[in-house]
Amino acid sequence: MSYNIIIFDLDNTLIQTEDIKLAIFAHLKKIGLEDKVIKHCYGKAKENEEGENTFTLNHFAGELQRETGLAIDMPMEMFTHEHMQVAGAKAALAACTESGKPTYILTLGVPEWQKEKLGLVGLDAFVRDAGVQLLITTDVRDGKAKQIEELVKEHGCDEGDGMLLVNDKPDETERLLEIFPKLHAYVRREKDDARYSEAQFAKLSDHERVAGVSETLEALLPIILSS
Ligand SMILES: [Mg+2]
Repeated sequence: MSYNIIIFDLDNTLIQTEDIKLAIFAHLKKIGLEDKVIKHCYGKAKENEEGENTFTLNHFAGELQRETGLAIDMPMEMFTHEHMQVAGAKAALAACTESGKPTYILTLGVPEWQKEKLGLVGLDAFVRDAGVQLLITTDVRDGKAKQIEELVKEHGCDEGDGMLLVNDKPDETERLLEIFPKLHAYVRREKDDARYSEAQFAKLSDHERVAGVSETLEALLPIILSS
């Protein structure tokens, strides 16, 4: 199979966002906040009623302050380190750009927060220098499909033909494979991520347009190099 356009998701695909989230939650517990309050405020900070992703650390701190009356200091540097890059992330991105394939990071979130995470895990300069294009949407339900549709038009990839999506969420991946009947995907699975079940990943690994399901991006490298 030949892949000409490669589209990477960011959170939990290139960077271990769940670890960042757990580090933030652990800090809030350590300073005495209840789990229930943390999760309630996180939910409020994450998405608004219009279905837009609204999460930033400042917004989360604001929701916590509204709920508890406490001004909480949450310096991002406390929660993020270079080892939060997913293994094989840089090598996979480099393999794409060095072979001249248009390469994108398509991510859902508030641009300021997405860029901040890229910087703190040490990927921003690499992404810029390698010529990877960053596409950011806040539309939780349809944002990614709309952006992929734009790429389909731009590159003339009818129904996603020749495109490889590298993503972590099994439900979202399945939906995008349905919307674009020639799109292929590679699924990065975070073992510690409790949001999805074993069965959801097993179903995807049987999908005829899924090139692989793996905890790292190391197995993606030969797929890109041979395509
Ligand atoms: Mg993701």
